[in-house]
This record gives sequence, structure tokens and C-alpha cells, in this order.
Amino acid sequence: MSPETKPDFLISPEGLRVDGRRPDELRPVELKVGVLKQADGSASIRQGKTYIIAGVYGPRELHPRHLALNDRAYLRVVYRMATFSVPDRKRPAPSRREKEISMVIANALSPALFLEEFPRAVVDVFIQVIQADGGTRCASINAASLALADAGIPMRSLVPSVAVGKADGVLVVDLGDEEDKYGQGDVPMAILPPTEEITLLQQDGFFTRDELLEAMQMGINSCKYLHELQKEALKKAYVKKTPDGEEGDDDEDEFDDDLETDLGETDMMEDE
Ligand code: UDP
Repeated sequence: MSPETKPDFLISPEGLRVDGRRPDELRPVELKVGVLKQADGSASIRQGKTYIIAGVYGPRELHPRHLALNDRAYLRVVYRMATFSVPDRKRPAPSRREKEISMVIANALSPALFLEEFPRAVVDVFIQVIQADGGTRCASINAASLALADAGIPMRSLVPSVAVGKADGVLVVDLGDEEDKYGQGDVPMAILPPTEEITLLQQDGFFTRDELLEAMQMGINSCKYLHELQKEALKKAYVKKTPDGEEGDDDEDEFDDDLETDLGETDMMEDE
């Protein structure tokens, strides 16, 4: 549960964060693909204590029909928090925040999709936050893009997403709830890794020009790392689905270890 008061410090004298992370360190991330039986595609994400499930249906006929777009499919995203996902009971009625985040997520995902291949249809993306501990819009994008791939929707790329913030004057990636609440700023972003195009960029709080540029570079590095985790989660799901039940070769096994979120590893992966 979140504390009622600001912790004494967000960055310790040793330069570590409230949960012991270094500034450029993500929380532990666990991604799973194909977690729902009924959906055409699905995925879950645990990012620290944040836990989210995304289900995709479609492309399918759109109701009500007057919403149909003649030149492309309508990407309909519904982001919702469970009543028990936050310390205070979340009222079940959709809030303005949930509607705005649904729109932001759709805007972040749509540049990755070939929606023009399915005019007048709808692709439904349902996102349920089971437990919120900061960074839910970014974690939702990570899971939803995997669920879209699992549904077989044609995509240019997966869409990794992370927030970079400022705590006690230090730039930090992947804010936890306390950093989100008591920090000085928050820059959620999402990218298309092949081109590094930015599909989500928001800002809360104050950053100097140099801080913002550095925050964006930290975000891009973290997104590239998350992209590797997304690809491995997809591979894992589809290796399991082969008819002979093969679990993969030795190359795959190296990713079976607990997901290492030390950004020091990112460079190694990018060199592949
Ligand atoms: N939060 C909450 N109650 C709410 C909405 C949000 O406790 O009704 C918490 C939750 O942990 C969330 C965090 O505040 O992750 C930050 O919310 P924000 O609106 O910044 O979006 P997010 O960082 O989750 O994308």
C-alpha cells in the first residue's frame, strides 16, 4: 500500500532509489503471451507490483456501424482499473482519467498497425489493470502490443513503453508509485524500435531542456531493452505452440533466467 506521507528521500546518499534501484534500472518485468482463452490475442505484464492483462478481439465487424472508418480499421482501446487495483476503492464507472489513458494508448499503438488493411472493421483492445503501482499506461502499451501481435494483427513493430521521471533532482526510469506521487516530474513515452519514432510523449512537472533530452534518451534505451523482453515473450509462447511441443533450443534457454532488468544488459542485447 502507498504511504500517506512523502518518504524522507527518493534518492539515498548512495544514489539509490526508495526500492534500492539505480536511476537507470527498470523494475523486474514479466511478460506472458496467450493468457486468455476467449480473446484472439492476449498478454499480461507484471512490472514491479503493477499487474495488467490485455485482450484483443478482431479485426471484426464494428458496432455501432456509424463509427466505421472507410479507409481503415477503428482501433478501440478500453483501459480500466479494477476496483481493487488501488489503495482506495476505484469507483467502477469509467473515469475521465481512464478515458484519456484509453485514447493515449490507442494513439501510441496505432502507428505500429496496418489498420488500412481492414477498412470499416474494428480491432478491440481491452486492458484491465489488476494492481496499480505506477506506470500503468506504459505497462498497458507493453502488454497490449504483445496481445495485438498474438492476435495476428499485421504490425510494423511491437511498441515498448516506459516513463522517465525526476526524483530529488535525479532522472530515473520506470517510476514506482511513490516516485510518481512525490517526484518532480514524469515523462511517459513509447517508441517504434526499428525507426525510434516516438508514438507517446507526455510530460508532467518541470524539466530543463537538457534534462528532457537526457530523459528521452534514457527512455529510448529502456524501451529497446523492453522490446527485447517483448520479443522473447512472443517467441516463448509460439515455441510452446508447435505441434511437437518443442520448448525451444539452447539459444532460447538463455532467456529463461529471471528477467534481468539491469540496463547494463541492454548494450549486450543491442549488439546482437
Ligand atoms: N492511482 C491511484 N488511484 C487512481 C489512479 C491512479 O492510486 O485512481 C495511482 C496508481 O498507482 C497509478 C499512479 O497513481 O499507477 C499514477 O497514475 P497516473 O495517472 O500518473 O498514470 P500511470 O503512471 O499509472 O500511467
